[in-house]
Amino acid sequence: DSTSAPNFIRNQISEELEQGRLNQLVTRFPPEPNGFLHIGHAKSICLNFGLAEQFGGRCHLRFDDTNPAKEEQVYIDAIRDDIEWLGFHWSGDVRYASDYFEQLYEWACHLIREGLAYVDDLDAEQMREYRGTLTEPGRPSPWRERSVAENLALFEAMRNGDFEEGEKVLRAKIDMASPNINLRDPTLYRIRHAAHHQSGERWKIYPAYDFTHGQSDAIEGITHSLCTLEFEDHRPLYNWFLENLPVPSQPRQIEFARLNLNYTVTSKRKLKLLVDNDIVDGWDDPRMPTISGMRRRGYTPASVRKFCDMVGVARAAGVVDIQMLYHAIRSDLEENAPRAMCVMKPLKVVLSNLEEAFEQRFEVAGHPAREDMGTRSLPLTREIWIDRDDFMEEPPKKFFRLAPGQEVRLRNAYVIRCDEVIHDDSGEVSELRCSVDLETLGRNPEGRKVKGVIHWVSVAHGVPVEVRNYDNLFTVEAPDRDRDGDFLDHLNPESLETVQAIGEPALAEIEPESRFQFERVGYFCADRYDSAPGRPVFNRTVSLKDGWAK
Ligand code: ATP
Ligand code: MG
Ligand code: MG
Repeated sequence: DSTSAPNFIRNQISEELEQGRLNQLVTRFPPEPNGFLHIGHAKSICLNFGLAEQFGGRCHLRFDDTNPAKEEQVYIDAIRDDIEWLGFHWSGDVRYASDYFEQLYEWACHLIREGLAYVDDLDAEQMREYRGTLTEPGRPSPWRERSVAENLALFEAMRNGDFEEGEKVLRAKIDMASPNINLRDPTLYRIRHAAHHQSGERWKIYPAYDFTHGQSDAIEGITHSLCTLEFEDHRPLYNWFLENLPVPSQPRQIEFARLNLNYTVTSKRKLKLLVDNDIVDGWDDPRMPTISGMRRRGYTPASVRKFCDMVGVARAAGVVDIQMLYHAIRSDLEENAPRAMCVMKPLKVVLSNLEEAFEQRFEVAGHPAREDMGTRSLPLTREIWIDRDDFMEEPPKKFFRLAPGQEVRLRNAYVIRCDEVIHDDSGEVSELRCSVDLETLGRNPEGRKVKGVIHWVSVAHGVPVEVRNYDNLFTVEAPDRDRDGDFLDHLNPESLETVQAIGEPALAEIEPESRFQFERVGYFCADRYDSAPGRPVFNRTVSLKDGWAK
């Protein structure tokens, strides 16, 4: 099981279950539908759904949709797809915090009646000024002592749309001198005359995240509300609402460190900037650290889950090396991707001692260790393509590929020798003339060692393949920790290179999202949208060389 490594949360839940303090575990994954999910969210998904799976509990999917200005239905749809693609199932229907707006409104009125909330007329800037700082206590708003009756009437008027946006807010009455700024009369409701993707035009006021989250957890009977460390300071407020409202259950908030990955950014806001500025081809561009981008790039659900498992869950924040992610997908594909030959930079080779009509077929394993993957048929003809990088006219010592007078083995076939190099008018190598040693199938030639093996494709049978080679989007490890600049200053201008390659015949009729190891090159996945049988387009998922140091 890829989601059961021990961690402090798992251990704690396991103990509570054993001691009978917990009956059934209920967790939730609570995305705001204001962007696509990224690899950081995958960590939270694996944690919440993984725990429920492991302990026979339930995990809810709840959209935390309290800000209609930034949220959209397309994000809701994409988030659902991503979770399903990862292989997780939420318990019951999809839930929305907006389903609880009426209940939350009633609870806000309850706080008003208890003298624990008031309508404030200060504007945003004044509120900031009154709130104080870390070293200075805040001051009470002049509107803090309004009567219960006045507050109830004003709050209802806010709901009815009698005020403009920003004219009034509802605040909790807690402690303007608290060392925890979150407790200095936090805002509970803001006026927003915006249409909401779920509730339409019904609401003119929207609850704040803090007033929504814990109570939604309580309504749903969530037992463990897992969130990232930046909410640690909000926990006293989370608990204050649970203590002061007649909620049906008492969930507990537990924080863990967010996932940060080098050479990329994991913030929806920043990823949205990349999309909005057309720096990438949408949220699911294969260079994006979004779940849908990774899917398009060729990641498997298992590799993402394995990565999250390797990262672990702790309270100490850190930055994970992207090589660990590459390692996770590489080891999956090493085991599970069939092999194929594909020549990235084709150079023509004429096998001059073969007849014009020569054709021989080799039945070759689909995968060296997986008989279940069957075989494929590789035709050898008089003209073949090899990769330009596998030939050097003036090779250094220990160049075990092809060079004038030198021998090399064609993978799965014969040894050839380069007899002649042909140049075009500009002096570039345009063709090689080689001779085949037909005695070398599956054995070494008499008295010589041939060290090099290169891949090749028959000219007559080769299939044109568009290949998109992706690299990191950023050139520096921590693009978003540049104090003097912008993360966009560190974009990698060479993050995408498109080449016209030529692949073996088996690549002609493949389905989108088919994955292969192109031997000696890397792992590739047929693009989910642009590839079709008869018109293959491949995305490079990851190179062959593993740069991950444990
Ligand atoms: P972003 O800053 O990217 O918008 P967010 O936390 O605002 O992230 P939400 O949609 O609110 O995004 O996140 C849903 C859940 O995923 C939350 O419980 C959040 O704590 C968790 N989450 C978000 N980013 C990460 C991360 N990098 N690592 C682990 N968990 C994360
Ligand atoms: Mg959030
Ligand atoms: Mg956010």
